Amino acid sequence: MNDFAAAEDGKYLLKNEKYEVLDNIKSSVPWLIKTFCKDRLIKKLGFEDIDMSDLYFPSYAFQYISPGGNSSMSCSITLNVKNLNKLVIYMSDLIKFKNSVAGQRALMTSKLREKIKERDNYICQECSISALTTRNLLLEIDHIIPVSKGGLSSEDNLQTLCWKCNRTKGAKTTGVYA
Ligand SMILES: [Zn+2]
Repeated sequence: MNDFAAAEDGKYLLKNEKYEVLDNIKSSVPWLIKTFCKDRLIKKLGFEDIDMSDLYFPSYAFQYISPGGNSSMSCSITLNVKNLNKLVIYMSDLIKFKNSVAGQRALMTSKLREKIKERDNYICQECSISALTTRNLLLEIDHIIPVSKGGLSSEDNLQTLCWKCNRTKGAKTTGVYA
């Protein structure tokens, strides 16, 4: 869930970046090209559409057929960020997540991620870079004590890191414990 949400954020930031670049060169591109070759221009500039929706959000199909075979019902659900959030909230009411690593990871809802970022003023707690002053900075939520070491998805064990510091921390942690 945490990774999915971070990937979604990244996708959004990349899109922003693309529109800003296009906006900046707008006045120096002839209108003929803008009007008739917009897609090609975007391709030539090196932008490609990112569509990760069917890449890694698993889709589940459910089908019911009555014993007599006379009636049937089916539906399919894609586990995207929105549905994962709903699932996490539903499951956390039914299951005691406390002692499960997977459960602690799953408890990171989009809402909790936003709450932590807001609490930390959108500032990386490691290098102090701020998303408010640095355009398109990707912030991620980090478990201070890793979940694999018994850390919980509770507010006091969560902090905001920029993606760079988060990668560095990951590398260090594996380095030490590998
Ligand atoms: Zn940082």
